[in-house]
Amino acid sequence: MLTMHQLQICQSKLHALQAELNKRASTLRAEMSSVADGDDSGGFVQGPADRGDLARQDSENAVSIGIAETEAILRQEIESALQRIEDRTFGICEECRAPISAERLSAIPYARYCVRCASVPGGKH
Ligand SMILES: [Zn+2]
Repeated sequence: MLTMHQLQICQSKLHALQAELNKRASTLRAEMSSVADGDDSGGFVQGPADRGDLARQDSENAVSIGIAETEAILRQEIESALQRIEDRTFGICEECRAPISAERLSAIPYARYCVRCASVPGGKH
């Protein structure tokens, strides 16, 4: 199992990744709004938004811009990892329930599976 210290390191890495994604997403939105200037759909909201609004905008962006797709997936993985920290199930393989190694979590803080399960092709069931 991870120590509290290791858990905190993973959590801060996840927050840093999330901040990085948010920064890129707002750059993307700024580019989108300049490109889509004149589109009078009225659905685009600039400025501060709560988490729900952000998530909705992100999924809309992911549909309209292919580039955003992997980042949206990554964002979901990060949010789900942060949720697992709160639920105290973080660092446990979702497939075999074995603890995921600290080395792996250090490289991929949002990893869902242990090295063994992640490396078995089609071995999810
Ligand atoms: Zn596993």
